Amino acid sequence: MHDPIPHWIGGRASAGHTEDLGPVYDPALGTVARQVRLGGSAEVDAAVAAATAAFPAWSDTSIARRTQLLFAFREKLNARSDELAAILTAEHGKVLSDAAGEIARGLEVVDFACGIAHLSKGEYSENVSTGVDVYSLRQPLGVVGIISPFNFPAMVPMWFFPIAIAAGNTVVLKPSEKDPSASIWLAELFSEVGLPDGVFNVVHGAKPAVDRLLEHPDVASISFVGSTPIAKYVYETGTSHGKRVQALGGAKNHMLVLPDADLDLVADSAVNAGFGSAGERCMAISVVVAVEPVADALVEKVTERMTRLTVGDGRRGCDMGPLVTREHRDKVASYIELAEQDGATVVVDGRGIEVDGAAEGFWLGPTLVDNVPTSSRVYTEEIFGPVLSIVRVQSYEEGVQLINEGAFGNGTAIFTNDGGAARRFQREVQVGMIGINVPIPVPVSYFSFGGWKQSLFGDAKAYGEDGVRFFTRQKAVTSRWLDPSHGGLNLGFPQNA
Ligand code: NAD
Repeated sequence: MHDPIPHWIGGRASAGHTEDLGPVYDPALGTVARQVRLGGSAEVDAAVAAATAAFPAWSDTSIARRTQLLFAFREKLNARSDELAAILTAEHGKVLSDAAGEIARGLEVVDFACGIAHLSKGEYSENVSTGVDVYSLRQPLGVVGIISPFNFPAMVPMWFFPIAIAAGNTVVLKPSEKDPSASIWLAELFSEVGLPDGVFNVVHGAKPAVDRLLEHPDVASISFVGSTPIAKYVYETGTSHGKRVQALGGAKNHMLVLPDADLDLVADSAVNAGFGSAGERCMAISVVVAVEPVADALVEKVTERMTRLTVGDGRRGCDMGPLVTREHRDKVASYIELAEQDGATVVVDGRGIEVDGAAEGFWLGPTLVDNVPTSSRVYTEEIFGPVLSIVRVQSYEEGVQLINEGAFGNGTAIFTNDGGAARRFQREVQVGMIGINVPIPVPVSYFSFGGWKQSLFGDAKAYGEDGVRFFTRQKAVTSRWLDPSHGGLNLGFPQNA
């Protein structure tokens, strides 16, 4: 077996100080492919020290030079994205085409960050009072921490670090310990294009590494993406240590289908958005809310499409790969059992599926569950796997109420040919990202990504303008030059004249 996957500290691979290791699986084979080093306080402290040391020079580097480095990174990543896609498929299990899509969406944020010269401009108001000008500056925060989930090992870190680095910050990334290699590959790429040592660091690990980042006095901010309980914990702990925190949590995304919708488009979209990446997407559709009388016809169309899906090793050109770990697969499968107990109808059962892959892979086939009671945990909890629920309602109003009563507010979609209904939906629904005849409405990089309610803690979304605002802080300067018009002593509060 290879050496354990190292940390990346101060511009080079590092074994760190602890001997703790964690398994990294090949989910399609069901075997341990690599080991990863699991860091704790010592490794985080070393990475933060490297990032702190790099910050003065990096934040002082001209915008032109910072942007040139980012452009070079972009070019290399574009040229070599196949290598990264292969890493993602090997450790996460998603099929190669999906891995390529993940990288493309991450690259969008690199493109956006290449515009930092424009994005970070301040404002200037002349002669606000006689002879007095006021202007604002945007400056980097310092050392910023990023903590990412297993399901997008390349894209989610790329939601943050391109903008953070472009704005002059230095970074410590703590990726998911389940699929850690992508982050080291990205760090090496940065090194190849000449990013100064210490600007981008990676520490692997689990809770001990996260906790040290949250409390480290030299870490200015935390950008977190993961499940809701951990997002809440990270938000509360990070802010209590005086940090700026954005923490994106879990999801349960509904697709509302009105009776006038094109049911073939709906069925294609539900299958694509429900089972792509084996349902391990925070923007996956997990509940189809069908306004009667369309449910029976829709279930038939979805079922027919599901029988055509191929499941297997993502390297071999199938539609859907395995789940990330055996433990996660078993947890997702337990919801199918629960659905049966709670009186739902299991229309397509993915347990025991035959696959194009090794018997020991972490497989679970696409599963469709109809008539799911909204009191069931199958409906209320995030499953994060290839289990699509159908809930039947009698009206648009009942559907919207259901969505708005949910704990999460990440994404949602409406399918209809009625523009008025769609417009009403976008206004009434309590969700952060909305699709109109679009099932996975992940905003492009110049808008921002983030949900409402239990899907986002803090008030800054990822990337777009929110991202620039999050990774910079403003100063307002009030200045007077020459002609100082000595007005003599005046202890009153300054007023403009
Ligand atoms: P997770 O919450 O288990 O882990 C996320 C990160 O937190 C990892 O780096 C992990 O090492 C760390 N972590 C785990 N347990 C911890 C603990 N007790 N204390 C401190 N840190 C801990 O999430 P996951 O399983 O890796 O990812 C899937 C989840 O992420 C799903 O809930 C999904 O909806 C969510 N997600 C949300 C978005 C979004 O934009 N809202 C995007 C992607 C994924």
